[in-house]
Amino acid sequence: MGAKERKCSVEGCGKVSVHSLSYVEARVLENQGLKLTPYLGRVYLCEKHYKLYKKIRKKEKRLEKWRFRG
Ligand SMILES: [Zn+2]
Repeated sequence: MGAKERKCSVEGCGKVSVHSLSYVEARVLENQGLKLTPYLGRVYLCEKHYKLYKKIRKKEKRLEKWRFRG
């Protein structure tokens, strides 16, 4: 009892989180149709969703580059 472990903030997931980020950063996931439940402005992600987040971030960065170039 009283473990520090937090659950993944993605609605309907409920797995133990491995990583936390600010809600502002994690919002890219919401653009993908995932619903987040932030806790005190932070979002906790399980391994699977954190990987997904990193993947999306990479994509977004590429898009930003494109935008700047345009
Ligand atoms: Zn998750």
